[in-house]
Amino acid sequence: MAWYPGAEKMELQPESDEQAAITPTQVIFHSVAAPWTPRRMYEYWRDSTNLESHFGIGYDGCVGQFIGTETRADANMRANRRPDGTGAVSVETASDDQSTDPWTDSQVNALVALGVWLHRRHGVPLRICPEWDEPGFGVHRMFPEWSNGGTACPGDVRARQFREVVMPGIVAVAGGAPLPPPGGGSGPARYRVTVNGLEYGYGAHGPQVKEVGEALVRQGYGRHYRSGPDEDWRDADTLNYQDFQHGLGYSGPDADGVPGEDSLRRLLGRLPSPQRVSLAHVVAAARTDPGAEQGHQTYGGEVRIVEQALADEGFLEQRWVDGSLGTRTVQAYAAFQRSLGYSGEDANGIPGQRSLQALGRRRGFDVTE
Ligand SMILES: [Zn+2]
Repeated sequence: MAWYPGAEKMELQPESDEQAAITPTQVIFHSVAAPWTPRRMYEYWRDSTNLESHFGIGYDGCVGQFIGTETRADANMRANRRPDGTGAVSVETASDDQSTDPWTDSQVNALVALGVWLHRRHGVPLRICPEWDEPGFGVHRMFPEWSNGGTACPGDVRARQFREVVMPGIVAVAGGAPLPPPGGGSGPARYRVTVNGLEYGYGAHGPQVKEVGEALVRQGYGRHYRSGPDEDWRDADTLNYQDFQHGLGYSGPDADGVPGEDSLRRLLGRLPSPQRVSLAHVVAAARTDPGAEQGHQTYGGEVRIVEQALADEGFLEQRWVDGSLGTRTVQAYAAFQRSLGYSGEDANGIPGQRSLQALGRRRGFDVTE
């Protein structure tokens, strides 16, 4: 149990006594999407939900601590406590209800001071986490494993403050070498962000990168491409995206060519999800697999996404998540349909558009035709 001397202690029970011990190796910063004091955060976690953090910081820089830093808190999904016993310390901060405002100077100073203490007390290294399970500091949105399928938290502006002000501040106060500014101070920005579970920015790879590039070209922002666009994010993608951001009226650090949630929505009309499931494919599997030999797979990859979602929602045992839409999966899907209030033919275990979209919204996959 470690309590930060710079915080007012407001111990949350029963979490503080009952939750598992951790060895803290990471620090993750959040926005709470409410203009709350630490006291109000404490009351919220005490009375309304159990997704608590270790710390809460108000607009005025006052810090509250709710759980000792060597006890698990529930704010960061898989980073809370890993199988090896390491975990993240989570820090909530007061924000506007959309998490669009910057941290105040008082909040920045409090974050820096807390970060320095966590470095000295627990040896959290003075760097940005390179991977979801590697030691360092980060903001909630950086890795999909830190949330339920992706989050914008703590917001675009604060994510940038983290890189440009808070992290360099922690390093400077702790006596380490200063970090180079993002992008090395000249040339296109070279860092990646995770938006809704998918990566964008220099070095990102995947179909979402190509989708962005093609949309940029369609909208007239393709002048920096010599080849492509393709599935690898290069400087040309950043420069074209920056032109697009300028076209939206963004300027300064908001127009550095690295996507945020808002600009992506405006480019694509939606936020891409890492997982896509075709309704027609899943229906075909539900009609084929139960009657075929044991373990038969029709569109196994998509079926597996649906099965995992059913398992995560508590309708299917994990051992039946096998890519074969067999009798057990049909039964589980029927139970899910009944939970939505469907009955009779509407709860026959064959996915329909509305039920599959409802499952996708809860579990973070896109449904296509
Ligand atoms: Zn968060």
